[in-house]
Amino acid sequence: MASPKPRPLPRAANLGFSSIAVHAGERLPAFDTKPVTTPIYSTVAFEAPSAEALDSVFGGTEPGYCYTRHGNPTLEALEETITRLERGAGAIAFSSGMAAIHATLLAAGLKSGERMVSSQDIYGATQALFRDVMTPLGVDTTYAAATDLAAFEKAVQLVRPRVVFVETISNPLLRVADVAAIVGIARRAGAATIVDATFASPRLLTPLDLGADFVVHSTTKYLNGHGDVTGGIVVCASKDSLPMLRQVSKLVGGILGPFEAYLTLRGVKTLALRMPRQCESARQIAERLGRHAAIEQVHYPGLPSHPDFAVATRLLRDGLAGAVVSFTLRGAGRAEVFRFMDALQLCCVGTTVGDIYSQLLYPAISSHRALSPEERHRLGIGDGLVRLSVGIEDAVDLIADLEQALDALLRPPVAV
Ligand SMILES: *Cc1c(COP(=O)(O)O)cnc(C)c1O
Repeated sequence: MASPKPRPLPRAANLGFSSIAVHAGERLPAFDTKPVTTPIYSTVAFEAPSAEALDSVFGGTEPGYCYTRHGNPTLEALEETITRLERGAGAIAFSSGMAAIHATLLAAGLKSGERMVSSQDIYGATQALFRDVMTPLGVDTTYAAATDLAAFEKAVQLVRPRVVFVETISNPLLRVADVAAIVGIARRAGAATIVDATFASPRLLTPLDLGADFVVHSTTKYLNGHGDVTGGIVVCASKDSLPMLRQVSKLVGGILGPFEAYLTLRGVKTLALRMPRQCESARQIAERLGRHAAIEQVHYPGLPSHPDFAVATRLLRDGLAGAVVSFTLRGAGRAEVFRFMDALQLCCVGTTVGDIYSQLLYPAISSHRALSPEERHRLGIGDGLVRLSVGIEDAVDLIADLEQALDALLRPPVAV
């Protein structure tokens, strides 16, 4: 074996200004100490000790790194953490939740002529991905309500899909699918199950334990949790799925950047502290709002009035029912909802869920804007419905803010 090249550059080397600027401080000798945290490996390429060793890494016969699109230690630290939390065989991180979902569809073996059955109330962009990207490639999707197991099974038996796709806690009505039952339905038809568990996070539910083949997350939400990084991840139940998943990640190329991986890894460390607190505040808010005169209906799977209370109680860990609450303002349309939104002082008006900031969204003008009012009503999304993602602020402050904004609705509008 060739002896390793002298690294760093020898001081005696007679090099020009530019060569020194580029190389002099890089690849300094490693000491036998390890940083406690994983550094941000902001590098495109990795240098092996010899050409022979590099050849083995490229050939996949030796572990190691050669090019960040193929693998990077900071990403691997995140992938290992989520693999362990989800109790899977391996994970691959992506640049967004959408990229993770797309890669999973391909890794699950979907190709032209094959079909998918999906729960009907899934994330809007996912539905658009199925319609605008997958359908033109020859993969059709049939939708069924995941909360009506008989109807869902009927659709699966009829369609014989390659893939069944389901979300655990849906948006914005927070319907909770019985993941174990859905997996059973998929298996009886020989289909793989993909679960988008973004709203539950692995703190509340680990779908691979229930037999799912893939679990995907928009790490943008609870896993990173700080509202400052867009990312996604897929964890698979079987090692056999990893090569194809890695191949899609390498070739389609939507990898997560090392900086984003570092921040997400840092965010994940406090998931177990954030999530129960956010769920507990959400429960308190749901209970309190239900008693306010300006509220017509509260949707929260932790309330006995929610249609999926029993499933949520059985499925989600430690009685935690998620940290999103939706509610309908009594007799409200766009004007009243706007007044309510503008009256909020602590809660942000924002389009995301799952971070430390409480954020309120009006689906009629955002996530469900593309639908006609009739379509929205058919889905149960009325003009007075808003969605609140509960953050880590003090629950009493959030309740006071929501109540003062609701009180404003009960007063006649000020003429301007
Ligand atoms: C946000 C979200 C996505 C998409 O994730 P991005 O990171 O925005 O690409 C997918 N599914 C669910 C349930 C989401 O909430």
